[in-house]
Amino acid sequence: MRTVQDDGTYDVAVLGGGIVGVSAALRCVQAGVKVALIDAGLEGKASAAGAGIVSPVGLGGNEASREWSQLVASAISHYGRILGLLGEAGMSDVGFGKVGEIVVATRAQDVPRLDELHDRVKLFAKAGIPVGEVKRVGAGELGRAWPEFRRDLEGLYIENIARMDGRRMCAAICKLAELNGATILSGRADIRLNDNHSISLTVAGAPIKADTVVLATGAWSQPLLEQIGVAMSVEPVRGQIVHLQLADRATGRRPVINTFEGHYFLGFPDGRVVVGGTHEPEAGFKVGITAGGVHSVLDKTLRIAPGLAAGSLLETRVGLRPRSRDGYPIVGRPRSTTNVVIATGLGAWGLTLGPMIGEIAAEQALELSPTYEAGFLGPDRQDITEPAVLSPNIN
Ligand SMILES: Cc1cc2nc3c(=O)[nH]c(=O)nc-3n(C[C@H](O)[C@H](O)[C@H](O)COP(=O)(O)OP(=O)(O)OC[C@H]3O[C@@H](n4cnc5c(N)ncnc54)[C@H](O)[C@@H]3O)c2cc1C
Repeated sequence: MRTVQDDGTYDVAVLGGGIVGVSAALRCVQAGVKVALIDAGLEGKASAAGAGIVSPVGLGGNEASREWSQLVASAISHYGRILGLLGEAGMSDVGFGKVGEIVVATRAQDVPRLDELHDRVKLFAKAGIPVGEVKRVGAGELGRAWPEFRRDLEGLYIENIARMDGRRMCAAICKLAELNGATILSGRADIRLNDNHSISLTVAGAPIKADTVVLATGAWSQPLLEQIGVAMSVEPVRGQIVHLQLADRATGRRPVINTFEGHYFLGFPDGRVVVGGTHEPEAGFKVGITAGGVHSVLDKTLRIAPGLAAGSLLETRVGLRPRSRDGYPIVGRPRSTTNVVIATGLGAWGLTLGPMIGEIAAEQALELSPTYEAGFLGPDRQDITEPAVLSPNIN
């Protein structure tokens, strides 16, 4: 890693080294341009805390939602491309697994919602969204997948859903970008709007020259958006998420378990089980682990899966989800400047959509023809009124 004394000039400076920023940087270096990836190393980076559910299931409604569903539907196949690139570079083990998902009805009122969900997912399949096999599962099948669960639960299995490890994925994409020529800079970036509508960039107070700046600063984006007069706002939503260790249990191929309560369970190799998470917009930028947060996660966990009580507590992670005003990502060039592309506001869905949104931002920065249609997510839009509902969980 170089320091801000690097006095180079860049075609593109990407601000933020989360999943969105590293993906944007990778796409830029693949196009052969000179790129700086700048990260302030802030505590609360969402990509380092996120659970890691990658779900292509989107729910349509109005025009914006149909476009949204189509975009989200591409998330898993986009990961396929990224995994291919990482594999070619010798980084094939990055914590990604297509393990499927069981949406479980954990309360009596949720049982009819399984049928509604089943019907919706069938509609997705008809619309060409790749959901794979979809079937109702009873307590027996659920218990074989997750023996720690209560025996009175039923669910809906959806095959084409994956889980990933945000830390490893981010690190691997960043490494690949660096191997392909990206300069990694450490420090807090700031921007200022000039009279001619271009922006000036500094990193830890030192000026950096870049033709285009990609703003992928997650939950910390608001002051930068205000600098360039973008009305769409972003705020942090704190999430606390608990990692457990199960002794002598095979957990690496377990399906993700999701619930209508917004509570989920993921299995990773070597007995690691991830459960969560809290949604605490009121916490602002505080990144501490709280007794109340851990209690609420473990309370729900053990009510649904009492067998997990024997698990060891490995760690609690805390991340700040970047939530936009209308709940949809913000990606595109704002009218107010000539040389900024925004890529933030991915809320609870950034590990699913981050690589794709990063690519879209890079293509806009380089004025390449778009791989995905995302004009409806532009920063100068009116709020997209249909709520951004992708699947019954809230990650
Ligand atoms: C508990 C929890 C569970 C989640 N589960 C899921 C899930 O299952 N599936 C899913 O799809 N998503 C999930 N998410 C959401 C997902 O993690 C986020 O949407 C995503 O990681 C956001 O990525 P990002 O790159 O926009 O931001 P971040 O990962 O937060 O990265 C932003 C980076 O910008 C840097 N930065 C900020 N300001 C500056 C500056 N001025 N200069 C330089 N650098 C700066 C920070 O240091 C940080 O590294 C979850 C999130 C949480 C917290």
